[in-house]
Amino acid sequence: MINVAIDGPAGAGKSTVAKAAAKELGYIYVDTGALYRTIALNAVRNGVIDDTDKIIKMLDNTVVELKHIDGVQAVYLNGEDVSALIRTPEISMGASKVSAIPKVREFLLELQRDIARKNNVIMDGRDIATVVLPNADVKIFLFASPECRAQRRYKELIEKGEQLKYEDVLADVNQRDYQDSHREIAPLRPSEDSVMCDTSELNLEESIEAVVNIVKENIA
Ligand code: C5P
Repeated sequence: MINVAIDGPAGAGKSTVAKAAAKELGYIYVDTGALYRTIALNAVRNGVIDDTDKIIKMLDNTVVELKHIDGVQAVYLNGEDVSALIRTPEISMGASKVSAIPKVREFLLELQRDIARKNNVIMDGRDIATVVLPNADVKIFLFASPECRAQRRYKELIEKGEQLKYEDVLADVNQRDYQDSHREIAPLRPSEDSVMCDTSELNLEESIEAVVNIVKENIA
């Protein structure tokens, strides 16, 4: 099986780029952020998002599953499809919180490895190259400047009809970057053998092409 790891900060266009690249290559796209978001959703629902011990206890009654239907990923929480419910700013912030808990990362590890064992995958996350798939065939670190990522996210949310300020989106991006890169466990960082891919100056098509080319060059 061919395993491609794509890591990078929030809002670098990772999920859109990785999804499109996977389609072009005929691989399964695995969005691991959705797993952390699902844990966060469950914690919010149970009113325990600010209590690490209770989140850990909650895992005993938490079943997370990933399904891929026609290349589209769906994530299930205790049998319920929560794919749409996990895409809110509240759950983004919650995911960043729960993902700093070692037991949560451990809980989701085998699920991620299992998919990669059985399929050609492009797996998108923060610690895929360093922890989840250290033997991945190709490792890519996809990034862009914080301002550039905030600008993209701002545009996306405005187009969805949300009312918000660019400065707030930038503050959110910076806060999540800080949380993700300063946590003790699995901090966001490129592995030594990652190919660095800066998309600040690239549009979507160019970013997809860059990733597809990196994969093709490295699996030959
Ligand atoms: O990629 P996405 O924005 O959906 O990820 C949500 C949060 O989950 C991130 O801010 C990060 O803290 C966490 N995450 C992680 N490890 C991954 C994927 C996501 O810690 N492999």
